Amino acid sequence: MAIPIPSRQLFINGDWAEPLLKKRIPIINPTTEEIIGDIPAATAEDVDVAVQAARSALTRNKGKDWAFASGAVRAKYLRAIAAKIKERKPVLAKLETVDCGKPLSESEADMDDVVGCFEYYADLAEGLDAKQKAPISLPMKTFKSYVIKEPIGVVALIVPWNYPLLMATWKVAPALAAGCAAILKPSELASVYALHLLASVFMLLSHLTCLELGEVCREVDLPAGVLNILPGLGPEAGASLASHPHVDKISFTGSTVTAVKIMTAAAQRVKPVTLELGGKGPIVVFEDVDIDKAVEWTIFGCFYTNGQICSATSRLIVHESIAAEFLDRLVKWSENIKISDPLEEGCKLGPIVSRGQYEKVMNFISNAKSEGATILYGGNRPKHLKKGFFVEPTIITDVTTSMQIWREEVFGPVLCVKTFTTEEEAIELANDTHYGLGGAVVSKDRERCDRVSKLLQNGAVWVNCSQPCFCQAPFGGTKWSGFGRELGEWGLESYLSVKQVTEYV
Ligand code: NAD
Repeated sequence: MAIPIPSRQLFINGDWAEPLLKKRIPIINPTTEEIIGDIPAATAEDVDVAVQAARSALTRNKGKDWAFASGAVRAKYLRAIAAKIKERKPVLAKLETVDCGKPLSESEADMDDVVGCFEYYADLAEGLDAKQKAPISLPMKTFKSYVIKEPIGVVALIVPWNYPLLMATWKVAPALAAGCAAILKPSELASVYALHLLASVFMLLSHLTCLELGEVCREVDLPAGVLNILPGLGPEAGASLASHPHVDKISFTGSTVTAVKIMTAAAQRVKPVTLELGGKGPIVVFEDVDIDKAVEWTIFGCFYTNGQICSATSRLIVHESIAAEFLDRLVKWSENIKISDPLEEGCKLGPIVSRGQYEKVMNFISNAKSEGATILYGGNRPKHLKKGFFVEPTIITDVTTSMQIWREEVFGPVLCVKTFTTEEEAIELANDTHYGLGGAVVSKDRERCDRVSKLLQNGAVWVNCSQPCFCQAPFGGTKWSGFGRELGEWGLESYLSVKQVTEYV
């Protein structure tokens, strides 16, 4: 079934604008490997124009249009955006799937989460009005103090490719709720920059749904400049945004390597950053579990979104007494995963997002083999599919903690396995990583779950499950997985600055 691909420009100052240098990036469908369209690529010149537009959205009419409008006014726009996205869900979900390769049912679930997230932040925007001028209790009666929460200003929102519209929404919705004006930079694969310059098109991708958000903003008459959308190459559009003197904050989701560059650029102008980075998530499975349920969560945690989740369950740490039985059932479940065109009914595993990522995942698997690990299941391209960047669900055993497969983020459907004897050993293995995003513990022993949850060095811990994510709960990491939190009230606070006013009475 052919999906019409909309042809869009950059979204700047409330309307579509051709990139000043007229550059475009081709879009490759990872299932068919065909070019299905292209999108504009912003350069530093376009970034400048967009930042100016955002700045004037905050100052126009002395800021009363947006930044200092009541939260209720901003909530009205956020709800209108949510309603339009709901209307367009079938189209947006299909675009997400042809763009990234995730099963259609998953893209549909993403769109529901996008709608829910805009609605949630609409409620918080309204609630913000009541929180203004919150009094502070002081020890001296001759003074009184209160707090005003103000939008930070112009914010750059730089996002990755695994959940294009959802990751964008996690930033856009709270930023707009807070009263900021934003420049959203969707992803391409930064690693193919050099190839792009050579006009090679085979590994580039883009994010169609993020551009459709521009059309939604137009339809709801969002005040001009409040949200600008600039797809482009990371080292070009992304780097210009990160170092731009009139950007007040950067919220970034992506790899740890890029985060270091962004922090370095931000440090030159003492700009705040929120960093949501990679992971190497453990799932610790104790001996007292219902094995089938634990296997189901492990499969979900590792293979959902084709394994391309920052908090994916990529290390299984299973008690030695149930390991053989557990792995046996894990393999049986894996055999039943339907790998197909992600638009096909019942698909559970689509292609990896691009050829570049596919090759990276395959390299991890072959390095694991040459380092002495065993490929218990998968490890290849599925034979029944002639095209597309597909990788079988892969389970790797005989892993040591010095192997690359244990230490580095794969970002593909690959699970590595280790067994343990004692609880202490399990926790030590789980924390044996530079990353600290999501971790899971599975046991029927409530006290043990509480104990292990406290000791896991992760920003999120899942008990008897893996990956559920709600826009009401904070999300973010420790260690190399970044700092700051998105979602919930914490997400809103990250776009607000706090001013205290103290009066002599
Ligand atoms: P990436 O770091 O390559 O790119 C992310 C974004 O940064 C893209 O928009 C890219 O264009 C931009 N970028 C690249 N170079 C830049 C530069 N020099 N200056 C400014 N911007 C630049 O990451 P990716 O490959 O798109 O995404 C995969 C990574 O994202 C994985 O490590 C994954 O774990 C992580 N991730 C984290 C979360 C989370 O919530 N913690 C969610 C999704 C993905």
